[in-house]
Amino acid sequence: MDYTIIIGLEVHVQLSTESKMFSACGTEFGLPPNTQTDPVSLGLPGTLPVMNGKAFELALKTALALHAEIAPFTKWDRKNYYYPDLPKNYQISQYDLPFSLGGWLDIPLQKDGSGGGRCGLTRVHLEEDTGKLTHGSGGFSEVDLNRAGIPLLEIVTEPDLRSSADARACLDELRLLLRYLGVSDCEMQEGSLRCDANVNLHIEDNGQTIATPIVEIKNLNSFRSVERALNYEVERQFTKWKVDGLTIKDAFKETRGWSDPEGITKPQRQKETAADYRYFPEPDLVPVVVDQPWIDRIRASIGELPSARRSRFEADYGLSPYDANVLVEQGQDVADYFDTVAKTTNAYKLASNWIQQDILRVAKERKLTLDKFPVRPETLADLVGRVDRSELNTNQGREVLGKLIETGEPLDTIIEAGGYKMVSNRDEIAAAVDAALAANPKAIEDLKDGKKKPDAVKGFLRGQVMKLTGGKADPALVGEILGTKLAEFVG
Ligand code: MN
Repeated sequence: MDYTIIIGLEVHVQLSTESKMFSACGTEFGLPPNTQTDPVSLGLPGTLPVMNGKAFELALKTALALHAEIAPFTKWDRKNYYYPDLPKNYQISQYDLPFSLGGWLDIPLQKDGSGGGRCGLTRVHLEEDTGKLTHGSGGFSEVDLNRAGIPLLEIVTEPDLRSSADARACLDELRLLLRYLGVSDCEMQEGSLRCDANVNLHIEDNGQTIATPIVEIKNLNSFRSVERALNYEVERQFTKWKVDGLTIKDAFKETRGWSDPEGITKPQRQKETAADYRYFPEPDLVPVVVDQPWIDRIRASIGELPSARRSRFEADYGLSPYDANVLVEQGQDVADYFDTVAKTTNAYKLASNWIQQDILRVAKERKLTLDKFPVRPETLADLVGRVDRSELNTNQGREVLGKLIETGEPLDTIIEAGGYKMVSNRDEIAAAVDAALAANPKAIEDLKDGKKKPDAVKGFLRGQVMKLTGGKADPALVGEILGTKLAEFVG
């Protein structure tokens, strides 16, 4: 039996503002509980909200970058429910007239060439965050209202995703975009990006398509857990359907919580419907009118976005889509670094390889972003250029790079002191090849007897020649001369 997985995401993103959505209260993370509060965040009687203009502009910027349609007129609504982390007993949100509708996010291909494509968006709206409850200590629950009232952007996708890997890729790309826009730090551990996933199956059964009840998964606190929870839920729904045959018509949408240690989802509640929230227009806030000049001004503030940057890396530097993506998806610092390197060398592919392999490895080990990397991009460009012009061979180049990182000395000093220079003299290399052959008669015997494969023998002897030349020989020339000599033996 065959089924299609249908996934949609709901992402809440904390906007990087200094003050809260509807008051001047601060938003700094990590302060002692209930020290970032004010009468508005505490929901004290008689207080009135005032909209944070910066938050609205960050929201506009995001929606424009997501190709959404901006509403000329938008208002606020009260979403009513009682919970200890919500002192007003309602959340100010947007219901029927959100500031933006539609839009899409283009997801790049995965490393294995699968996935990719466009994920439609249903809406993006603005709201305020709730406080945080900590259950546990001595049977008590504690309420921290530092987070209450922090601006949140809710991004709802269409059910366009078809696998857990798609969902993961969508989140990766969304986070990258939000960081490029500078609207959020998207730190999942700090709760500034939170994600719920809606999932069900379309099962092909006797020429009919049957949809299983939709489940919303909560408590997803890492991208990895999003993938795991979706995989689990797909299996669970299929198995359950085989047993009880219940479809979307027989059951309400269910909310389930992901338990990461157990690797399962557990039922939480039947999902509230909009009617349960008794939405009504927020009487304490004026609607927002967004005119074209405002939209134009915000649009002009959007810099180059990840997808445009990938295309430019492919078009201007001839990088493969794979390489362009690796450089871009690592973050702005990496793409900026490559951009600077590419300004001073034309060896783009080589530069891209070295950044991906050597520079990023060291940066990761030392937990450095590339704007703080000890080898500046201009120096890497200089070094890569020398390798590209065959002044140094690849191994020498790598050694020099290692020394640049360790010592911080100037490139010329390291090259001179280490005597790094590639030997490309044909006679000199031919002599080394002859010497290597003379010193290794056993290898030649094995080749003649067919005991060892020609490639293996050639590889071994190449290593010997490189040793004899102190690692300085031009590897291509060694391969050529060695190949010609060996061909004589196998006739
Ligand atoms: Mn929400």
